[in-house]
Amino acid sequence: MIPYRVGTGYDIHRLEENRDLIIGGVKIPYEKGLYGHSDADVLIHAIIDALLGALALPDIGTIFPDTDSKYKDADSTLLLKHVCNLVKEKGYKIGNIDSNIIAQAPKMMPYIPNMKKRLAEVMNTNIDNISVKAKTNEKMDAVGEKLAIEANAIVILYKE
Ligand code: ZN
Repeated sequence: MIPYRVGTGYDIHRLEENRDLIIGGVKIPYEKGLYGHSDADVLIHAIIDALLGALALPDIGTIFPDTDSKYKDADSTLLLKHVCNLVKEKGYKIGNIDSNIIAQAPKMMPYIPNMKKRLAEVMNTNIDNISVKAKTNEKMDAVGEKLAIEANAIVILYKE
């Protein structure tokens, strides 16, 4: 078996009032937040699905079902930590992660350094292994109309 495994992840959440906006484990001041069973951290969910995909395990919705009250308003960094332990148990390490947040508003750029720092802490990896990029959707579709925020991620795992 080759000592590498690659995975991709995707997620989208609706923006709603009376919710905190938490992306990449960082709270971002904004008039709306992402709606979901957990804290709806769209970037962390995409990263979790990339990690699970790399291990060919069932996806985030299967591992942390939204029918389970345990995950109501759950802190997604804890879910990510759990999945990083699965990676470790399977004998893999994180090579690097590349990711995109697609949001028309608010501006993500000022928060990206903190997201990378937070993700590196939670995943117990070097900050240089984590890339977070931000784009708008050029005002098109639900994301462009500020109704939702989307994220995707790709990860490579390796065995020493
Ligand atoms: Zn999600």
